[in-house]
Amino acid sequence: MMRGLEKFNKLVEAFEKLPTVGRKSALRFAYHLVLNDTSLAMKLSHTIESAIKSIRKCERCGALSEHELCDICVDERRDHAKLCVVESAKDIFILEEHKLFDGNYFVLASLDEEILERLENRIKEGVQEVIFALTPSLSTDALILFVEDRLKAYALHFTKIAQGVPTGVHLENVDMLSLSKALEARTKT
Ligand SMILES: [Zn+2]
Repeated sequence: MMRGLEKFNKLVEAFEKLPTVGRKSALRFAYHLVLNDTSLAMKLSHTIESAIKSIRKCERCGALSEHELCDICVDERRDHAKLCVVESAKDIFILEEHKLFDGNYFVLASLDEEILERLENRIKEGVQEVIFALTPSLSTDALILFVEDRLKAYALHFTKIAQGVPTGVHLENVDMLSLSKALEARTKT
């Protein structure tokens, strides 16, 4: 901590809270913005504020969106009979970036009743296949069973991404080829 520089210290602390940023990098960022590039600093603060104000979650699937519904949900060319269940909006980015899937998504962030009800409402809109693209683990298997049971009243085809995605490894750390293969060779749950 630098004495008498409360605002600077606060800036360093704020950067330190970011994922993967340690004390050294946080200090480097703060010095750079304050000493070398105040216009970048102003631009950053403005960009962050305006992004936070306008980005929200799609009311239908939970993806990040700047409108009530995201672009994927309103895209008529996508296969609306296929619903891919992911655990975070970030996973949609990963799958979309590499054009791995042409259906719709649903972010199952937790098993809250409200989220399950939203999922059920989505199913009623003509979904035929539910694909679980979740980090493989024992608790994921239990979650899949729970969701399947919850949706057993509907004639659904349940699949999950296949081998190639190692147990316990999150989607964002799986290489694209493996993920693409895993999605293609999805198996019945
Ligand atoms: Zn959406």
